[in-house]
Amino acid sequence: MEDRIAAYITRTREKALEQARAVDRQIRNGEKISPLAGIPVAVKDNICTDGILTTAASRMLAGFVPPYSATVVKRLEAAGATLPGKTNLDEFAMGSSTENSAFFTTRNPWDTGRVPGGSSGGSAAAVACGEAVCALGSDTGGSIRLPASFCGVIGFKPTYGAVSRYGLIAFASSLDQIGPFSRDVTDCALLLNAICGHDPLDSTSARFDVPDFTRFLVNDIRGMKIGVPEEYMAEGINSGVREVVVKAIALLESLGASVEYTNLPHTEYALSTYYLIAPAEASSNLARYDGVRYGFRAAKTSDVMDMFMKTRSQGFGAEVKRRIMLGTYALSAGYYDAYYLKALKVRTLIKEDFDRAFEKYDLLVSPVSPTTAFRCGEKTGDPLEMYLSDICTISLNLAGIPGMSIPCGFVEGMPVGLQLMGKHFDEGTLLRAAYTFEQNSDYHRAFPVL
Ligand code: GLN
Repeated sequence: MEDRIAAYITRTREKALEQARAVDRQIRNGEKISPLAGIPVAVKDNICTDGILTTAASRMLAGFVPPYSATVVKRLEAAGATLPGKTNLDEFAMGSSTENSAFFTTRNPWDTGRVPGGSSGGSAAAVACGEAVCALGSDTGGSIRLPASFCGVIGFKPTYGAVSRYGLIAFASSLDQIGPFSRDVTDCALLLNAICGHDPLDSTSARFDVPDFTRFLVNDIRGMKIGVPEEYMAEGINSGVREVVVKAIALLESLGASVEYTNLPHTEYALSTYYLIAPAEASSNLARYDGVRYGFRAAKTSDVMDMFMKTRSQGFGAEVKRRIMLGTYALSAGYYDAYYLKALKVRTLIKEDFDRAFEKYDLLVSPVSPTTAFRCGEKTGDPLEMYLSDICTISLNLAGIPGMSIPCGFVEGMPVGLQLMGKHFDEGTLLRAAYTFEQNSDYHRAFPVL
């Protein structure tokens, strides 16, 4: 299987077995075990694992073995989960297809000629084909939801601040969030239980009362008020995808929700806003890869300047360099006000669109992506085309709200994801709607034939 899908950069079979044996011992001793005990949870390779290679799919970190684990990894270990391996991604999580990985492209289990989506493509593919039961990914502009939608699994991006990012290799710190992949909503809730909550090691992690998320696994959405933003159903959305999503919305309505079309008028600026803010933050975060402290260093250099230049030229791939250049430009003295500052202001307008919508609605729904999974190589020559895959997902990161992709049908044999969007820290409403949808449909039971 793995030879056809290539979901993992590093497999950690021995570690997983060792962890599983520890759980076996606990069971034999009659100890109480957590619901995640012994469950294989794959981890995206931009999340640090103590003593285990963590590359962010970059030549820059091709040999990097972290001396500590991310908080989410520690929490999973404490819950008894096992680690089958570290999954492939677009280099430093920049991309929508995993084709920007410095090592190889992961394949979509539903059609190995197609991409799994990105940037957490390895995590989504591993869960879709059964190489892991669950997985963790990171989502800066859609990197959990897009691959979940392309691979027909569940992907959840929690509210900004709900999950610690300590040990996540930073891409754009005001947008990055870690979240789970799973095959059903129950597993998603169990993973959220394990990873959500304040962490003193992450100054952006929120102090909030973490509920028991399984409490929201209720098959009932009667009276739930759902809004459908027209901008997310407009031209540009593939007609097959739109049809499947319209049908899914009709199912929610038939289950007792009230559904209304609404507007998020600043949506058209989301892509440009994101592609100023995310690269600006990336250019700053990636300044640390200079060949001095850790990671790759170019051989044969004449002086310090030459070493910096060669190290960064050889260590980063084309997309990462493009982002660093875009971001450095947007932050430079002459352009800061015109680009970066302007983008921050538009970001506020986008957030206010959501605030207004959530005065009326409990939940917003839309497609996750304008298309189903595209063919490998189809968009690599045109970065703008690639960026457009995230048109329905990035606004949520700009606003900091939670979002979820759930399988809701197929177009020509390829899975389609329905996006659920909620108020800050209201992941419960998303879980309830997703659970109700799942209990009244079969899409989550479909399995790719390889
Ligand atoms: N595809 C988007 C990008 O390339 C989002 C990536 C992400 O969420 N990490 O930036």
